[in-house]
Amino acid sequence: MGDGHGWSEPLSTHDYDAIVIGAGLGGLAAGGLLAHRGMSTAIFEQAPRVGGCCGSLRHGDYQFDVGATVVLFLDVIERFFRSTGREMARYVQFLPIEPLFEVVDQERRRFQIPTSPLETGELFASFSEEDGEGWRRFAEAAESGMAAAMTQIFTRRFQTLSDAREIARTSPSMTSDRSSLLHSFEKTLRSYFRSESILGALSLASYSVGLPPALAPGYAAFLSYAEHQGSYYPKGGMKALPEGMATAFAEDGGEIHLGARVSGILTEERRVVGVRLGDGREIRSRVVVGDINAKAIYGQLLPRSEVPLWARLALRSLRLSQSSCMLKLGIEGDEGFGAHHTLYSGGLEALNRIWFDDYERGRPSRGGYLLASIPSRTDPSLAPPGHHVVHLHTLAPYQLADGASWDDIQRREADRMLDFLEADFGVRLRERIRFAHLSTPLELEREVGLHRGALYGLESGLLSTSMFRPRMRSPIFDGLYLAGSSVHLGGGIPVCIGSGMIAADLVCEDASLAQSGSSGP
Ligand SMILES: Cc1cc2nc3c(=O)[nH]c(=O)nc-3n(C[C@H](O)[C@H](O)[C@H](O)COP(=O)(O)OP(=O)(O)OC[C@H]3O[C@@H](n4cnc5c(N)ncnc54)[C@H](O)[C@@H]3O)c2cc1C
Repeated sequence: MGDGHGWSEPLSTHDYDAIVIGAGLGGLAAGGLLAHRGMSTAIFEQAPRVGGCCGSLRHGDYQFDVGATVVLFLDVIERFFRSTGREMARYVQFLPIEPLFEVVDQERRRFQIPTSPLETGELFASFSEEDGEGWRRFAEAAESGMAAAMTQIFTRRFQTLSDAREIARTSPSMTSDRSSLLHSFEKTLRSYFRSESILGALSLASYSVGLPPALAPGYAAFLSYAEHQGSYYPKGGMKALPEGMATAFAEDGGEIHLGARVSGILTEERRVVGVRLGDGREIRSRVVVGDINAKAIYGQLLPRSEVPLWARLALRSLRLSQSSCMLKLGIEGDEGFGAHHTLYSGGLEALNRIWFDDYERGRPSRGGYLLASIPSRTDPSLAPPGHHVVHLHTLAPYQLADGASWDDIQRREADRMLDFLEADFGVRLRERIRFAHLSTPLELEREVGLHRGALYGLESGLLSTSMFRPRMRSPIFDGLYLAGSSVHLGGGIPVCIGSGMIAADLVCEDASLAQSGSSGP
């Protein structure tokens, strides 16, 4: 790093100490901590609302989720509010989701997975003795292994080999189960369970790291156990979480500018000095925290001539995470939806097939697997009495193989999704639909600023997570920090909040080193 990082200059030469690009959860967490620690901080957000992928949108009488539909690992969110001297419950309340989800399997059998691990064991034993015993071993491995330490690393630095060594030293359970580090998600899951219905139900977790069961890392299999610690929905809709964080930020003097797209990051001799907005205004700051995809930061916002060739090549080699589409429906009547989430699952193999045969070939999914989220089951205020909001979610490539645009096939694909639901799982909704809109990868890019619609920023395999992702303290530009799903451990609400907390710590660490005159590590 160079000297000073902008902290030695008087504030009068800057508009703010810190500028944050994007009011996603990572940006709000970083901004929240910086403002709480006394830095003048402004967040510039291109959309008319905060939250990014964790938000809500109203269509008539129905309130839909923008992206995320469930919150796990509440303790990370509590940790964030506590770090700003606040009690979470004053800013956002969470409603427990019970059962965790309902499964409709390839034989159109319905069963519900409860939160209680004990009751889940009983359910699995009703499939076969081996599956019941498999759940017991799975729960034991999860509780004594990586799952136990998972939430701790969400807010810890994991950027270098020495960070990895420190984590292994202080959280030995992270590395105690070597087989799940070496084997695929599919192999790990198959070593515990036999029933195709159970394998299909538990395979959904592979997409939390953005890969199909055949390619996702084995440790991700234990993410489905983490849900049994509790799964929640914010009262009032997903937007309640970012809005609560934005309120805390404003109370500490932070400013949020909505509808303010950042079109460039200003630099002087490899140091960032502020941002340029879409309307041409230039705003100066000592540091900039980017809560958007690292590929967009280095590839679109920074002057190309100042990003060294090695960095451009390294960024090009990083694969984006998967994209998806979501059919949003306002539905009359309760029938057919017994839980907040219903998984229509053609089994584990169906998930691999959708990936290799459809997604990787640039084709919209041809059925076999759909996730329905019906948050009005948990929070009835989201729809009129007797109605529900339903989100039908499946993989969808950003780039279509035949050169078609999502704008042209949007209606046809919405219809096809309803056809799969009927043909594969016997669920007929058409007569009860009062509102329908297909949100496509292209729309997510336009409206949520999600680079090429990539749900979790970058792919998150064993060799593309933590220290293999772009650095959160830029090694190229002094004063530039990254948060959000393309850095740290990837996508997901608690992970992105954790990334923002780490980014804020890095900023404060550099500021105090600069002010004390030390050259730092
Ligand atoms: C469809 C979908 C379903 C998901 N489901 C879940 C779930 O159930 N549970 C879960 O934990 N996670 C889920 N996730 C993941 C989770 O929502 C995200 O990982 C997390 O919210 C991303 O936070 P972030 O900090 O990376 O910011 P983002 O949410 O990516 O927000 C970035 C913000 O930056 C703004 N922005 C972009 N470019 C600019 C610019 N140039 N200038 C100014 N502002 C800009 C955007 O408008 C946006 O508001 C889901 C994601 C998606 C898309």
